Amino acid sequence: MNYEKTFEEIYNELLNREDRGSVADYIPELANVDPDQFGVCLTTVKREEFSYGDAEKRFSIQSIAKVLSFVMAYSSIKSNIWERTNLEPAGTPFNSLLQLEHDRGIPRNPFINAGALVICDILVSELASPKENIRAFIRRLSGNNTVDFNPAVAHAEKKAGSRNYAMIYLMKSFGNIRNDIETVMDLYCHLCAIEMSCKELSGTFLFLANNGVVPWSGERILSPSRTKRTNALMQTCGFYDEAGQFTFKVGLPGKSGVGGGIVAIHPEKYAIAVWSPRLNKKGNSYKGMLFLEEFTTKTRLSIF
Ligand code: GLU
Repeated sequence: MNYEKTFEEIYNELLNREDRGSVADYIPELANVDPDQFGVCLTTVKREEFSYGDAEKRFSIQSIAKVLSFVMAYSSIKSNIWERTNLEPAGTPFNSLLQLEHDRGIPRNPFINAGALVICDILVSELASPKENIRAFIRRLSGNNTVDFNPAVAHAEKKAGSRNYAMIYLMKSFGNIRNDIETVMDLYCHLCAIEMSCKELSGTFLFLANNGVVPWSGERILSPSRTKRTNALMQTCGFYDEAGQFTFKVGLPGKSGVGGGIVAIHPEKYAIAVWSPRLNKKGNSYKGMLFLEEFTTKTRLSIF
């Protein structure tokens, strides 16, 4: 199958549709990104790679990194994650405070901001140098030693982070944040500031399509059972309060970020990353969602 040709066809079809999204504008580093860039890359578990457009251009992966911090905790940390965060779809925006008060500081899942903050708190408790450790972990998954944080984005995230501060203070009042708030926020903001290209992202997430083993190094990151569970969490919680839409239209487990990236997995087959910076009203890449919908429909490569 020549996926590159399929990518080009879908890209051209989508050109004729009005792009109704707009870029994230809560920090200048995202607001100033050229909104017309577009990239896609699919990597198979047999390590074939198909790409199109700006597939090698790095962008801010934002909340896509929440899967990587979760996996790091799930794979190596002794604390019981499920006493600190739930695993149900949120049904509210990614930065909502409403449910946190109601559920006494326990986030609905690890992929909304509150849940990712709790995971960061766990990592701060258990790792010697959490920022460096998570960067090294992501480099191992990607097989690329140049993947890094963008310090300007991390700084801007902190400055614009009032809602995240509100969440973390609220959770601390319920006893669900154990460490110094600035230390946890610093890790969280750096996590949001990781930059990768579609090629790097699809490669990095391939272990989730490969029963938990990184194909190029043979390193086992998660057991098959935990891999299945991580993919299930992406399916139900990976798209803010649009997880149902993504499942309905695309039919793959995945995760989005407000930088306009989406990564999705077909277990035992492939990982795909797409990037288009304009977002829809729910904060997911407008064109990225449409692109993946067309892709799984045309190729019949959804899990359903
Ligand atoms: N930096 C964003 C925040 O914490 C992440 C949002 C996202 O990509 O969902 O608000």
